[in-house]
Amino acid sequence: MRQAKAILAGTIFTPTERIDDGVILIQGHRIHKVGRKSEVKVPSGVQVVDNRDRVVVPGFIDMHIHGAAGHDLMEGTAEAVSAVANYLARHGTTSFLATTATASIDRTLHAAQKLGEFIRASHRSHGAGDKIAGAQPVGIHLEGPFINVKKRGAHPASQVRKPSIPLLEKFLSAAGGSVRVLTLAPELDGALAVLEFARSKGLRVGIGHSNATYEEAERSIAAGATHAAHIYNAMRPFLHRDPGIIGAVLTDNRVSAELICDGIHVDRSAIQLLVLSKGIDRLLLVTDSLSGAGMPDGNYRLGNFTVHVAGGVCRTVEGNLAGSTVTLDAAVRNLVSFTGLSYEQCLPAATLNPARILGLEKQKGVIAPGADADLAVLDRSFYVTQTYVRGRPAL
Ligand SMILES: [Zn+2]
Repeated sequence: MRQAKAILAGTIFTPTERIDDGVILIQGHRIHKVGRKSEVKVPSGVQVVDNRDRVVVPGFIDMHIHGAAGHDLMEGTAEAVSAVANYLARHGTTSFLATTATASIDRTLHAAQKLGEFIRASHRSHGAGDKIAGAQPVGIHLEGPFINVKKRGAHPASQVRKPSIPLLEKFLSAAGGSVRVLTLAPELDGALAVLEFARSKGLRVGIGHSNATYEEAERSIAAGATHAAHIYNAMRPFLHRDPGIIGAVLTDNRVSAELICDGIHVDRSAIQLLVLSKGIDRLLLVTDSLSGAGMPDGNYRLGNFTVHVAGGVCRTVEGNLAGSTVTLDAAVRNLVSFTGLSYEQCLPAATLNPARILGLEKQKGVIAPGADADLAVLDRSFYVTQTYVRGRPAL
């Protein structure tokens, strides 16, 4: 077998199944077979990697990340994308959506065009001779500019815009088909038409940075919104006689919810309520991380503006929380400790669930024959010791 590898694992979480004393056969950039060692024959001459004291899980998928390691993805350069991709791989993340922040139209068009080029080149290369090492950028997430200025969080008020199909069309064409997710505030004039247009182009639509009432949010879910961006953060608060967008997302099982599980953005009791109402199956762990992630305290860029990072907490000059410095490996461990659920139960929130939302569940977020060989190898405390991106060791 050409370019073949056999990874022996103490335990594999696929994540729908637990396989003890398992083996994963990799051929080229894909998984060929997975099963118990007693059932999967390892052909002779294949490189064997011994992880019998480790746990192997699908590489994590981060569908909402602005930057890390001193770089913002809107820089749109190979240097910025590589820095983020390498940082992510060190933390077990193998796929990500390069996420824009609300910025001027020109800057957003430039970022969409450049990021689209990297994404298509990475897709074509099948991992071989990647210009960008580390995690694979699998699409663009446009966060803004169609958000509610009252719930803008760290996004600059001056660049927030009314929902517009012609403007969205411009962004989509600049990105050359690489946009996968649009986050918008569904209560704005024209938002539902933009939502329906985005869905007709195959995008997933997140509702967020929003002051929507329960009814407004429900209308957007009926129109095809797939998930909520970082639930609880930058949203109309939940009140028992005015449950708002949070009430709609918590109770409507047609939508999933992104969660920043860093112990700072959302209190653990609110996380417990989220898991009780939506179940793990409709939970999407995201980092929303920015350029200050993995860096010392100081001032960093988010899109086109400055945020201050102190003790891992990012804030704008006005004091609003602005993205995080968490990584997905830590977010899964946090979810385990906040909910009391097992690692195996929490794992789909960073693997299979985002893959399903993005329509990538045949290739990503699963350890199954035919899927990309995207793997995170963990020690018994669930810290990353090695990452494989499409069959290639990234560390
Ligand atoms: Zn946001």
